Amino acid sequence: MLDNDISKVVQADRAHVWHHLFQHRALDSKDPRVIVEGNGLKVWDQNGREFLDAVSGGVWTVNVGYGRENIADAVRDQLVRMNYFAGAAGSIPGAIFAEKLIEKMPGMSRVYYTNSGSEANEKAFKMVRQIAHKRYGGKKHKILFRERDYHGTTIGTLSAGGQPERVAQYGPLAPGFVEVPHCLEYRAQWDDADYGRRAADAIEEVILREGPETVGALCLEPITAGGGVITPPEGYWPRVQEICRKYDVLLHIDEVVCGVGRTGTWFGYQHYGIEPDFVTMAKGVASGYAAIACCVTTEAVFDLFRSDAEDPMDHFRDISTFGGCTAGPAAAIVNMEIIEQENLLENCTQMGARMMAHLEAMKIRHPIVGDVRGKGLFLGAELVSDRATKAPLDEKLVARVVAECDARGVILGMTNRSLPGLNNTICLSPALTVTAEEIDQIAEVLDQALAVVGGLAA
Ligand code: PLP
Repeated sequence: MLDNDISKVVQADRAHVWHHLFQHRALDSKDPRVIVEGNGLKVWDQNGREFLDAVSGGVWTVNVGYGRENIADAVRDQLVRMNYFAGAAGSIPGAIFAEKLIEKMPGMSRVYYTNSGSEANEKAFKMVRQIAHKRYGGKKHKILFRERDYHGTTIGTLSAGGQPERVAQYGPLAPGFVEVPHCLEYRAQWDDADYGRRAADAIEEVILREGPETVGALCLEPITAGGGVITPPEGYWPRVQEICRKYDVLLHIDEVVCGVGRTGTWFGYQHYGIEPDFVTMAKGVASGYAAIACCVTTEAVFDLFRSDAEDPMDHFRDISTFGGCTAGPAAAIVNMEIIEQENLLENCTQMGARMMAHLEAMKIRHPIVGDVRGKGLFLGAELVSDRATKAPLDEKLVARVVAECDARGVILGMTNRSLPGLNNTICLSPALTVTAEEIDQIAEVLDQALAVVGGLAA
């Protein structure tokens, strides 16, 4: 239909679409890119150019790859039968997916449906605030977040935003959100052999400074995504859990990126033996075939909202209009079945190890590669201009690495680019279906791009 006259599509895009995270001045001298088709890891643009997508739709989303007819069929069938009903009523796919999801999350119990990662996090924040009112006279309302973590784009979630470049110019923000230090050992903030424990102790210091009676929750990514693909140091998570228990602080894990297989387990927190109170997820839940996000809680959290049936203020007084769409859970059921039937967690672990071996080799070959990090198919390479000082590579050169890969037919990502010196990490996160040949192809192209940019940086 639309591609009958693709030049008109490109014209309409240029004239009327405001693209995300994009300085439109770039389009003064070139056409916008329109992605018209996808299959597996491959996508095609309006000119028929083929790319290997090594970032799953740009932002870690299309975990099962493009062109899944069985997901499309399930969504179609569901939409024709019953597309939507709002509020308190349930749906067949909503109930079935919730049950399947909870099977993968021992200790968790309730699924609250919503539309985006930001909104899922907002739901958890609101639950924490309401619990503070119900149990602590409103006092235990503060929510801690970590430097470099990102939890979304709304004013509430930006208030819990640890990336200054995302937050700047959007204030005033919401009160009651307090930052704790990041845990990136490569850019160590403490001289301590037990770095993980030390970085976690910094959270305790903030709780004590703020007053434990005021702190309701701690919200963390299991592995920081857009803030630099930061894997936690050894010993970090057990100590975090201990601190949360000690001060009665609810633990909210943001699995919007790591969730649904991206790191080789169903959820990132499951690598670390964490027992969260809230888990939020979005991107990979239905791999972008439909919009769906979830805020998952324990039964203990849920119970706090059903203590007094007669009190009109006692339940969670919240709704997402499109949380009543059935396309999301219908797609999510099949998405999960694909991951199970095709052993994609296993493939993720194996292919992630293969890519990591390539990255380690590139670190030896290219002085601009300062550090390589990640888990499963959630990987990053931090680029520097000087290995000894760890001075970050100029962001234009980081962008050039991405552009060189693009010119060779591989789409990669980089962490947010607007604050020079903080976000200089190349991101790799192909679909969990990626083959050994595709991994080698991505690595070969990245290797060539690093050689070109390394030459420019020298
Ligand atoms: N949490 C994390 C860790 C994210 O990376 C993102 C988006 O990139 C979000 C939350 C927000 O999700 P959404 O863009 O669906 O609102």
